[in-house]
Amino acid sequence: MMAAPPHPVGKRGAQAARAARGGTVHVGRKVIELNKAHWPVTVLGPGRRIGLWVQGCSIHCPGCVSQDTWPRDAGTRIAIADLLAWCRKVSAGAPDGVTISGGEPFDQPDALHALLLGLTAWRHEQRLDFDILCYSGYPLRRLEKEHARRLALLDALIPEPYVDTLPQGGLWRGSRNQPLVPLSPRGHARYADYVDAPATDDKRMQAAIEGGRVWMIGIPGRGDMARVEALCAQRGVALTEVSWRR
Ligand code: SF4
Repeated sequence: MMAAPPHPVGKRGAQAARAARGGTVHVGRKVIELNKAHWPVTVLGPGRRIGLWVQGCSIHCPGCVSQDTWPRDAGTRIAIADLLAWCRKVSAGAPDGVTISGGEPFDQPDALHALLLGLTAWRHEQRLDFDILCYSGYPLRRLEKEHARRLALLDALIPEPYVDTLPQGGLWRGSRNQPLVPLSPRGHARYADYVDAPATDDKRMQAAIEGGRVWMIGIPGRGDMARVEALCAQRGVALTEVSWRR
């Protein structure tokens, strides 16, 4: 367990403080490259959550099951103000949490910052109590050094690259090297019981069908996606494009 990152400072710190107080936060015309958004997500953090997957990841972990999120793609850009409006609308104002994954959220640092400010302001304005959990493939020490202001806006973080040669490890995590790090008082209260929980405590995935595509949401076990592909083939369904191969 680590200490919460230092208080934000400077211009962005002032924005963060304003967001926490519920003051107006200007996300302006900021955009984020987004692969997908889904509600409700129940397999990536506690409760019923908004799931946001950014587009673009420069880390390229061998064995990543989300290789469709690797290329940056200007065609996936969405205004953060529109994304926040969608979050409010679909969740009917009552999510238990927001999970930000990808792709690599910290590869779009300004967009991630604006999104976190907007979520924080929404939570305060509406007196909500949802938590914000973010995944990253960057090492924790690097994030603490380079992104302290962003970590100050998160309740919990799952950092470190996915390592295909390691066992799965903890709940909501892909490989044993990935810790669950509570960051805020809300994060400590909500996630302390899950820090050392094994993945087997809640081994589920969600399936969503949109536009002729099947989205599997959650953390698969080793070989699970190959087994899904083999079972589909046995039933005469060929998967023409899959995200776990390029
Ligand atoms: S596991 Fe995450 S960090 Fe690693 S390549 Fe896939 S999307 Fe990027």
